[in-house]
Amino acid sequence: IPVEPFDLVIFGGTGDLARRKILPALFRRFCAGQMRGDERVIGAARAEMSTKDYRAFARAAITEFDDNDACAAEHLDGFLRQLSYVALDARSDAGWAELGAALRKGRIRAFYFSVGPGLFGDLAERLYQWKLADAQSRIVVEKPFGRDLDSARALNATLAQHFDEAQIYRIDHYLGKETVQNLMAIRFGNTLFEPLWNSQYVDHIQITVAESVGVGTRGEYYDRSGAMRDMMQNHMMQLLCLTAMEPPAKFDPAAVRDEKLKVIRALDPMTPENIVRGQYEGADGRPAYRDQVEAPDSRTETFVALKARVGNWRWAGTPFYMRTGKRLKARASEIAVVFKDAPHSIFGADAGHHRNILTIRLQPNEGIELGVTIKEPGPGGMRLIDVPLDMSFAEALGPDSDDFPDAYERLIMDVIRGDQTLFMRGDEVEAAWEWTDPIIESWQEAGDDPLLYATGSSGPDDALALIHRDGRRWREIR
Ligand code: NAD
Repeated sequence: IPVEPFDLVIFGGTGDLARRKILPALFRRFCAGQMRGDERVIGAARAEMSTKDYRAFARAAITEFDDNDACAAEHLDGFLRQLSYVALDARSDAGWAELGAALRKGRIRAFYFSVGPGLFGDLAERLYQWKLADAQSRIVVEKPFGRDLDSARALNATLAQHFDEAQIYRIDHYLGKETVQNLMAIRFGNTLFEPLWNSQYVDHIQITVAESVGVGTRGEYYDRSGAMRDMMQNHMMQLLCLTAMEPPAKFDPAAVRDEKLKVIRALDPMTPENIVRGQYEGADGRPAYRDQVEAPDSRTETFVALKARVGNWRWAGTPFYMRTGKRLKARASEIAVVFKDAPHSIFGADAGHHRNILTIRLQPNEGIELGVTIKEPGPGGMRLIDVPLDMSFAEALGPDSDDFPDAYERLIMDVIRGDQTLFMRGDEVEAAWEWTDPIIESWQEAGDDPLLYATGSSGPDDALALIHRDGRRWREIR
């Protein structure tokens, strides 16, 4: 279904994110017929560039980052005709009159702030001064949303000067992933899971976001951030919220975000014995983290593992083990809900025993798998094995069903539709910082180095110990 006609301004339209994600995502929605063909997409950035050159820039980006050649052959020219470019400076008046002239009346206006967070305030202020935004207009802001509670509060306050909360779309692209939304469908669309979704039946939950790459050329940015700020405070906490939240009364923005906020507020404060931070070493010609950043003695963590507790009735006694890191064994992200043992084994110790595990895989191969115990086939007696009860979307839904839309496609269309359900509310972001700030502060106060771990490993040994001491083990990163 096509969305209402809109004008979208991409501030930072020549940047890396616009090139790799925003422009290809818009093009794919155009191909899918979700735009009517008279939208305006306006790149706005500092570089002097003609509209013709911007279209060439977008063509190159889409050719590089979208692999649907058939669609490109048919639709790319039509899409590019909707693009234009305005050279503009967020910090001066240059270009703003031209931007105003490029926008049409009576349209939904969305302003995508794809620039560094230092410019969010300037953009909001100039949009207001130049009267480019009305009550219908939306702004989209990228991560990082602050670097601690104070800066996030300041940012929220700045945006709130000119925009209502209902107009502010804070992106966490993990929420746009198809399987993450499926987590909610599975939980709240079936009678099967929700009755078991509590500490009575769930032994523990593991959330892993593992990357195989290091910081690459982003060392300068990353060194001021680290895994806690870059991954844990936002993406991982959002996954935790969706896994742990109570059923919202409705699938609408206020209800869903209220429930997520309650989860963050219910988190017990973190204690040092429940958290491990690491930094990768070099190997096989791949440099150590410290050789990729300016500070040779950097204490920035590239890995965090922690055991969190959601202190409420539903989750009392069920720990949430979370870990994220760079240069690990493989690129793999998943949420695993590990159910408790059957209360009594009628088959005896020799039969072996397995636990039900529901795995929501975010990457690679997005999908959902439920491990169930069955009898090993054959005459060998009652021996139990664990097999996946396959919920392969591709088989169930047809050959194109694993061709999931990219998270950005979904999220940008939600902005146009005015649906904030999959965006973070200001109070959620602040609550998440409230929980992570003391952790980061305690590291700074202690002043010790993160534990080194080998490139291609599963993180520091202490991270293994964190879960082993509870008689549990991490799932294999693969
Ligand atoms: P970038 O450095 O590649 O691009 C920055 C853009 O901002 C350029 O188009 C530049 O012209 C424009 N710009 C800079 N100063 C300006 C000014 N004074 N006035 C107008 N325009 C100005 O950055 P990026 O990687 O595209 O990231 C943009 C935002 O998205 C950042 O907040 C970043 O943290 C966030 N983000 C990026 C990625 C990514 O993969 N690149 C992922 C998640 C979030």
